Amino acid sequence: MRLGHAILALGLLAVAPAAEVSAGPVPVVERSFVIAIDPGHGGDNGGCVAFDGAIHEKDLTLAMAHELQASLLRRLPHARVVLTRAGDETVTLADRVARANAAGADLLLSLHANASGHEPQTGFETYVLDLGLDRREAARSARVEDGAEPTRARALAMVRELALSSHRGRAAGFARRVQQEQAQRFPERIDRGVKQAGFDVLMGAEMPAVLFEAGFLDHPEEGRRLLDSGQRALVVDGLTEAIVDYYREHARER
Ligand SMILES: [Zn+2]
Repeated sequence: MRLGHAILALGLLAVAPAAEVSAGPVPVVERSFVIAIDPGHGGDNGGCVAFDGAIHEKDLTLAMAHELQASLLRRLPHARVVLTRAGDETVTLADRVARANAAGADLLLSLHANASGHEPQTGFETYVLDLGLDRREAARSARVEDGAEPTRARALAMVRELALSSHRGRAAGFARRVQQEQAQRFPERIDRGVKQAGFDVLMGAEMPAVLFEAGFLDHPEEGRRLLDSGQRALVVDGLTEAIVDYYREHARER
């Protein structure tokens, strides 16, 4: 987290530099908006295996990421949509977050599919980072960066925590919207809701970040649905709508 970024994100810098102040109406400049899509797994890490024993989660998440990218660019032609991996490559969780941070992403959406093991389960769910873990991470990274300078470390930790809380609030709102859009399109499927967890791919992200579990790939019925491009288009459409909604609500205000 860069300090300046954190302060801007919190809207604490209300006064523009004198050189930029001009008389008359202020033109509305559409801000650039960057969305990072993270296709879960990849390369050596296949993720879970589909009901048919052939297709891996990494294939589904990559296909869905490409479909979502195309769909978003149709709705938000001025946005930039970056993928944390473009092909079947092995990428560490830290590198995925680093790529989203380097792209200056406004939002990070990590795509996954579930497997239930013994008890067959179905449904879609969205995860946000657990706030307790968030805070510990904030305090830890402040300590690491500042070493023996306790006052500055405390101040940094506070700014970080404020920024993280703001990101987390937005992430939670976005996660609820993701669930709503899916529930609208799939009223017959189980809405498993928004959950909290300490996923590494959400940790260290300098923007609101959520992880979406599209459904249970190892369940014969739901797995078939996820592998069907027509059905998947509906899933992608729901994600697109949630992101467009997020853009309308947050992207132009900063
Ligand atoms: Zn996964």
